[in-house]
Amino acid sequence: MTDRETYFRPRSLDEALDILAQTSPRVAAGCTDLFPATEHKVLPGPILDITAIPDLKGVRPTDDGLLIGATTTWTDILKADLPPSCDGLKLAAREVGAKQIQNRGTIAGNLCNASPAADGVPPLLTLNAEVRLQGRSGSRQIRLDEFITGPRQTALQPEELVTGVFIPGAALTGQGHFLKLGARRYLVISIAMTAARVRIEDGIVTEAALAIGACGPVATRVPAAEAALVGAPLDPARVTDDLVDEAISPIDDVRADAAYRTQAAGELMRRTLAATTPAKVAA
Ligand SMILES: Cc1cc2nc3c(=O)[nH]c(=O)nc-3n(C[C@H](O)[C@H](O)[C@H](O)COP(=O)(O)OP(=O)(O)OC[C@H]3O[C@@H](n4cnc5c(N)ncnc54)[C@H](O)[C@@H]3O)c2cc1C
Repeated sequence: MTDRETYFRPRSLDEALDILAQTSPRVAAGCTDLFPATEHKVLPGPILDITAIPDLKGVRPTDDGLLIGATTTWTDILKADLPPSCDGLKLAAREVGAKQIQNRGTIAGNLCNASPAADGVPPLLTLNAEVRLQGRSGSRQIRLDEFITGPRQTALQPEELVTGVFIPGAALTGQGHFLKLGARRYLVISIAMTAARVRIEDGIVTEAALAIGACGPVATRVPAAEAALVGAPLDPARVTDDLVDEAISPIDDVRADAAYRTQAAGELMRRTLAATTPAKVAA
């Protein structure tokens, strides 16, 4: 990776925060975003490898929700015992690259890289996820939609690490789902992806959380479409194209043009809702 003098692999968060403050290193987790972005055979140092810090890894229930540690990999998420509300997150985990990438790539790396096509973001938005940040001077927790501020831009401060992703208990209800549209079925960067979490009581939708990614600078919730679903039996047709279109601002790029994304977004969202039924997601 890089030479020993510029490669740090601390075993505690305090040690990591000291190194971060003293040497301004590049933070490295699974390196699946870092390496492709580096035009060198060796990552330029200093490097702060955070993967040996036990407190940062794993999924833990808390008094008021669920905490997913920063270095929890997509494979860890697939193997975790999570409620059906998190099925969208599991389905996204299964679509992040191939198994080798899922074994290395972490949830915080996906969020910190802040690609508009990051598959983890839409399902986490439907789960009202919050990002936990820690620096030497203290910690804070902010909503995911406030953490990712633009393409490749986050609210992370230079002396902070993401320590985890918190899902509040109130969002751990209902059924989640996720669909990704790419130029082929697997191993592809998303043209668009949609996530849904729907709570149904006595046959009536009491809560709907919908999100869409790769159709704008950042992934976004779709509030008008959510409102159209609540108070009636689940009917994907209530999510009309205009309700989705008002939330997105797609661009032309190598994967698809804006017109195609606009056309695909509403349909993908309706298919996601139609598939929002309890299903065991295989690891
Ligand atoms: C072949 C291939 C296919 C891929 N396919 C997909 C795909 O289908 N969908 C998708 O969404 N992504 C995909 N990716 C991108 C990548 O695998 C994911 O975004 C992954 O979750 C990144 O995690 P990581 O641990 O490897 O991040 P790293 O590469 O280690 O880090 C990414 C960024 O986050 C920062 N960082 C990491 N952790 C922290 C932390 N705790 N605190 C502060 N900063 C931190 C790093 O400094 C760096 O800037 C693919 C990558 C490859 C190489």
